[in-house]
Amino acid sequence: MPLNNQIAIVTGGGQGIGEAISIHLAKQGKDVVVSDINLDSARKTAAKIKSLGCQSLAIKADVSNSRDIEKMVDLTREKFGRIDRLVNNAGIVIVKPIVELEEEEWDRLIDVDLKGVFLCSKMVARIMINQKRGKIINISSSSGKMGTEFFAGYAAAKFGVIGFTQGLAKELARYNILVNAVCPGIIGTKMWEMVDGELGKRLGLAKGRAFQKEIEKIPLSRAGTAEDVARVVAFLASSEAEYMTGQAINVTGGMVMH
Ligand code: NAP
Repeated sequence: MPLNNQIAIVTGGGQGIGEAISIHLAKQGKDVVVSDINLDSARKTAAKIKSLGCQSLAIKADVSNSRDIEKMVDLTREKFGRIDRLVNNAGIVIVKPIVELEEEEWDRLIDVDLKGVFLCSKMVARIMINQKRGKIINISSSSGKMGTEFFAGYAAAKFGVIGFTQGLAKELARYNILVNAVCPGIIGTKMWEMVDGELGKRLGLAKGRAFQKEIEKIPLSRAGTAEDVARVVAFLASSEAEYMTGQAINVTGGMVMH
């Protein structure tokens, strides 16, 4: 088994931004473990990675479930022997006024979007500490920098991801492990299709109109693509980014500038 390639795990790698990240990492020559709650979509991404000449493994794992994450890390070690990159991308959004958001929905948002980042980072960091090198990249959001109506729970989780990123970056720097966050803005994925429908219902807007209204706030006048985000993640994952840690980088077309 060749062990000279770098090994990356991407959570939520079955579709959208996670799929694009997985493919960009493979284009850098990395072998990619595609983890997702949906095994079929993880397998589809893994097949695309293999067609690029890299090794891949599709794993079904819910990031909010510690047993699943232990298994994900064990299977990765069994197949590849090490872990060089972790991209905590899996996430969900619930669009609701806070007075309607059920306690279970709040818990699910925090469990997936924040606890998931903690669980995966904790279990992978143990391995990276032994290796004395590694990189963790957390996908936060523009909602991690700026709260928005109907997204308060999501914003709480995504702000949390940035705080966690900063703390972990300081803690792991002594082991040569770099930890950064990427904050996408409005990205045209299935997640935004759902958000557009939910916001449309709330605001009485026709299909596609909520999405358009958000785009009007973007200085670059277009939605982002999953590839726009993946390219920044691939840069952070590459040897070109060796002196950056604890950062939260906006990929928002200028919508957020702090
Ligand atoms: P997406 O199209 O919904 O893809 C997310 C992927 O994660 C799906 O394959 C999904 O599977 C999977 N997933 C959901 N819950 C999971 C769990 N508990 N464990 C493991 N996998 C899970 O979303 P996206 O737009 O690519 O978003 C990716 C990340 O970027 C998320 O963290 C999101 O918050 C963040 N983000 C997105 C945008 C945007 O505009 N799209 C903006 C800012 C930040 P299922 O489809 O089967 O549920």
